[in-house]
Amino acid sequence: MLISKQLNDAINQQIGNEFGASLAYVAIACHFAEEGLMQLSAHFDRQADEERDHAMKFVKYILDTGGRVEIPAIPAPRNEFSGVADAIEHALEMEKTVTAQINDLMTLAVEEKDFAAQNFLNWFVAEQLEEVGSMDNLLKVARMAGEKHPMYLENYIAHGVADAGE
Ligand code: MG
Repeated sequence: MLISKQLNDAINQQIGNEFGASLAYVAIACHFAEEGLMQLSAHFDRQADEERDHAMKFVKYILDTGGRVEIPAIPAPRNEFSGVADAIEHALEMEKTVTAQINDLMTLAVEEKDFAAQNFLNWFVAEQLEEVGSMDNLLKVARMAGEKHPMYLENYIAHGVADAGE
């Protein structure tokens, strides 16, 4: 086995965190669909798919190292939002939380001198920088557009600006 019990357990928890993020994005996508904001809804559907991919990367890593995958309980996502900026703020806070979780995994991999894990986690370190940056931009544009002009935001997403760099 090429993974310690401690890192294996921590990555299993992260699989739950990534699936949790995926569910949170489905909930946000549904909120926007209910509001008739279909570009925003599709954008968060894509984010939900990405988070599932992240969870599966961790699953594959555990299998590759001969560890044991145990998927934890996934908490229910938040389903109520007071407006466009509120939903995007929630997404940004979640991405910041995930960034801290990835940093904790990296800290563990460094302490254990697990170089394969560090190499694997580097992808997530770069990914989180992008995720936080693009969500922060989306929030800025949402605040500028204001709750009364969500069509500006729909346009922003339709032009692919929110996905730049992905
Ligand atoms: Mg993720």
